[in-house]
Amino acid sequence: MKVLKFGGTSVGSAGRMRDVARLIAGGRNIVVLSAMAGTTNSLVEISEYLYKKNPDGANEIINKLAVKYYEHVEALFCTAEYRQRGRELTAHYFDYMRTFTKDLFTLFEERVILAQGELISTGLMHLYLHEQGINAAMLPALDFMRTDKNAEPDPVYIKDRLMSLLKANEGADLFITQGYICRNAYGEVDNLQRGGSDYTASLIGAAVHAEEIQIWTDIDGMHNNDPRYVEGTRPVRHLHFEEAAELAYFGAKILHPTCILPAKLSNIPVRLLNTMQPEAAGTLISNATDEGRVKAIAAKDNITAIKIKSGRMLLATGFLRKVFETFENYQTPIDMVTTSEVGVSCTIDNRRRLDEIVDDLKKYGTVTVDDNMVIICVVGDMKWENLGFEAGIVNALKDIPVRMISYGGSNYNVSLLVRSEDKQRALRSLSDFLFNNK
Ligand code: ADP
Ligand code: ASP
Ligand code: MG
Repeated sequence: MKVLKFGGTSVGSAGRMRDVARLIAGGRNIVVLSAMAGTTNSLVEISEYLYKKNPDGANEIINKLAVKYYEHVEALFCTAEYRQRGRELTAHYFDYMRTFTKDLFTLFEERVILAQGELISTGLMHLYLHEQGINAAMLPALDFMRTDKNAEPDPVYIKDRLMSLLKANEGADLFITQGYICRNAYGEVDNLQRGGSDYTASLIGAAVHAEEIQIWTDIDGMHNNDPRYVEGTRPVRHLHFEEAAELAYFGAKILHPTCILPAKLSNIPVRLLNTMQPEAAGTLISNATDEGRVKAIAAKDNITAIKIKSGRMLLATGFLRKVFETFENYQTPIDMVTTSEVGVSCTIDNRRRLDEIVDDLKKYGTVTVDDNMVIICVVGDMKWENLGFEAGIVNALKDIPVRMISYGGSNYNVSLLVRSEDKQRALRSLSDFLFNNK
């Protein structure tokens, strides 16, 4: 059994939904769907209006979105009977959303609103498959996908519930479920964070020991650089789990950062494929390494660098512990660290507690903050015995000011911190130098 996840663009129109139906029809697999492209953003907007106690603003967006869905229903189904069922399904969800414009609106209601996108897209796909004579079973994510008190997925619960749902639907041709949505430890509707459908797919893959997890999207695999900023990028055929995890964490939007770990722990290959070009080879993520190859580059925005300079860091026992504890006290994770005899530089991407952190750090040395920075992450087989990769990276950036360089934390990446205004230039120059022999 495989797990196939289709993102927002892949189910973004009637034509695309039909393409997906054709792609999934052949196998008895579990299919995870996102909300149709743009829907979750609209649901976020509806919630913002409701938080601001502006029901008219919310209703306007709900109505606009409903019109889109009714058009979608007309275009998707072939028979009058199913078109009518599609309209009823759409009406059911939109009527429900409208009930939220009349009452108190809190985080709890917001999460329920955010869940509607995946519920509608899977509902419509489920109906369409039945119209096509495919006996697809719906596995409601809210019945098996669950997080614990630390907001981490609960793999034992997920596996137990999923197994019994699969058993209860033994006669089904295939299975459909919602990405992104779940229940939390208190049984409330919740989600796995924006872009989290990839995570759903890998959690399900691990739970059922899937043969493969496929992430179907709008591009032919992981490219060697961010195609939104660099021209002429090319798909990478193979990535090691660690390489893919670094790229996802450091900004390659094609994969949600959390998605690699469950697959890696269960050693299940992950394949990135293109719904618009299903014959393309895509990218295979597995335990295999391509010796000595630099694979890809990604960038993570909105980074703040903090330098703490003390008279004599290395001789002062406990200096680093105190610095790291300060970040921990304010629940702010550190992304990158570099050290010298006299000080340490750290980066964070969450500035919420920055003022308090800086205030506390002043006890240990002189503190400097640099805003609007970007981490550029170069990924590949970078064992320290391999020669030349550091020289290539530094040479590519010879005309760009670099604030920090970090290597040695893993065998798979070199990270560099540059100003955001230099991001595109840095990405292009690295591509030219490392991949295009310029
Ligand atoms: P989905 O809605 O299917 O989850 P996403 O928008 O989350 O799709 O991810 C696909 C997008 O990721 C691509 O359209 C592309 O613009 C972007 N992207 C960023 N970096 C990369 C990369 N290195 N390789 C491929 N795509 C990337
Ligand atoms: N629909 C959700 C989002 O837009 C989850 C996902 O697509 O992965 O963030
Ligand atoms: Mg995505």
